[in-house]
Amino acid sequence: MKILIATHNKKKMVELERILSPLGIEIVTADDIGCELREVEETGSTFEENAMIKAKAGCEDSGLACVADDSGLAVDALGGAPGVYSARYSGVHGDDEANIDKLLKNLENVPDNERTGRFVCAVCCVFPDGKNICVRGECEGTILHERHGNGGFGYDPIFKCGDLYFGEISSEEKDRVSHRGKALRELYNELNNMI
Ligand code: IMP
Repeated sequence: MKILIATHNKKKMVELERILSPLGIEIVTADDIGCELREVEETGSTFEENAMIKAKAGCEDSGLACVADDSGLAVDALGGAPGVYSARYSGVHGDDEANIDKLLKNLENVPDNERTGRFVCAVCCVFPDGKNICVRGECEGTILHERHGNGGFGYDPIFKCGDLYFGEISSEEKDRVSHRGKALRELYNELNNMI
């Protein structure tokens, strides 16, 4: 089976390939198959809705089964913000440093025991016959007062899961506990049951 991945993010491609290739699934990008995917607006109010919007559009545009994901950080003291707006929290899409600065500012007076939150990742796969699979992975942790380490991406430098500082751990360690690792392993199980 061939599955299209609706992302331009090389890291996500590699991760998906590594997890899904044991199922005999061939992972392709839009470039690989010479297909231009339309730009879709992420208008959903949940991670699942946004992942589904992207996977559905990719499936329609390519005629192939299509996987897409949506992820972010939900902070309890901020009522779940930045949530689906994680990538653009500071106003500029993908400005990790500005996003972290804004989050730290908004949590300035929040004590340690209330700095809880979680990374969330929804992954959806839509098939040409209309069937779909939608899975979710979460990773609970706390928001630090300042940056620790400079590894990873996004909010990793200010996130701690158990005793793991996300800005300091290897990608293999992160895969084991992360929201994305959990969601992709769940997707593997669902696809395995289906094939
Ligand atoms: P997207 O799913 O690629 O749209 O990512 C949404 C945003 O959520 C990213 O730009 C990051 O700010 C944040 N995010 C999602 N997953 C992670 C992660 O594993 N570490 C740090 N930040 C993340």
